[in-house]
Amino acid sequence: MILPKPNRLNPEQVAEITAITKEFGCHVQPIIGKVRTIYAIVGDERDDLMINRLEGLSYVERIDRIQSPFKLMDRRSDLANGRLTIGGVTLGEELLIIAGQCTIDPKNPNLFYETSQAVKEAGAHVIRGGVWKPRTNPYSFQGDHKSLDILMEASRRTGLPVDTEVMDEEHLKFAIDAGVDMLQVGARNALNYSLLRAIGKAIGDRPQTSVLLKRSVHMGPINEFISAAEYIAAFGNPNIMLCPRGTTPTLDGYRNHPDESATPLLKEKTWAAVVVDPSHSVGKAAYVPAAALAAVAYGADGLCIESHIAPSKGIGDDPKQSITPEVLTKVIKQAKQLWKIRRE
Ligand code: PEP
Ligand code: MN
Repeated sequence: MILPKPNRLNPEQVAEITAITKEFGCHVQPIIGKVRTIYAIVGDERDDLMINRLEGLSYVERIDRIQSPFKLMDRRSDLANGRLTIGGVTLGEELLIIAGQCTIDPKNPNLFYETSQAVKEAGAHVIRGGVWKPRTNPYSFQGDHKSLDILMEASRRTGLPVDTEVMDEEHLKFAIDAGVDMLQVGARNALNYSLLRAIGKAIGDRPQTSVLLKRSVHMGPINEFISAAEYIAAFGNPNIMLCPRGTTPTLDGYRNHPDESATPLLKEKTWAAVVVDPSHSVGKAAYVPAAALAAVAYGADGLCIESHIAPSKGIGDDPKQSITPEVLTKVIKQAKQLWKIRRE
């Protein structure tokens, strides 16, 4: 929809917008009001080049898009009929729980094996474990390639699928070759379009692989997050979960601020499951249970929670952010109850 600056366009201006839209297979239909005339773009109006050229005209105030800019992630797309099943859970039918250490310590594989077994007993369906870590401080532990073997061994021992973050195409290749079930795109890389595209390509013909796409703290409008998912879906694998993980806090005292209120917006616009990460959303173990329940109340289909058998022995975020498997057990129980209440 073209909204002009003047109340009506003159014939030369109408001819100009008609010519531009025609180049893109569309035409213009004036909608004549008493005071103002607006101009509907009839046809597929999603071409950014057409929109940019129209928006660049001095007499155009703005373009309002009627069609969704994302063809695949839109809840009206055919992909909305699909259902994603991971670790025996079909998203939307049962609350999915992903849990495990922020970071695998390659020097202490047993800690990860024990954590994995404990989170399984607590009720987790997928084990998370960071092999490669995006750290703000370049001198912090950056993860270790050896941890990939530990992650896969934990998967064998527990019989559960595993989730780990990939930060570049080399990680992606290693993770796929090792058989990682769920690839995590972190908050820092959610705006890395070449990585998103590479992931989409790599899993295009691998229906057994899914992606947990986190929301970047630098994302603004909700469409920006959904468009990031569209990059992955474009290659044919729709196994994508959207993961709000907290944003820059306006309150001091929080490492991040929960953005679980993004969930209803995502659900309105897309068909994708929303799996909230309450751990990074608050950044402090004591606040995680409340954030997890709030996320479920907001409509989350799943939770991704950092948990460690002995947080004080952990590395990465684990000492400050991981909850123990005992706490996790209670959180899962309450979250499931709340999930049922919400469904009613
Ligand atoms: C993580 O999951 O450990 C992590 C680094 O998450 P985020 O990308 O949300 O910061
Ligand atoms: Mn972490």
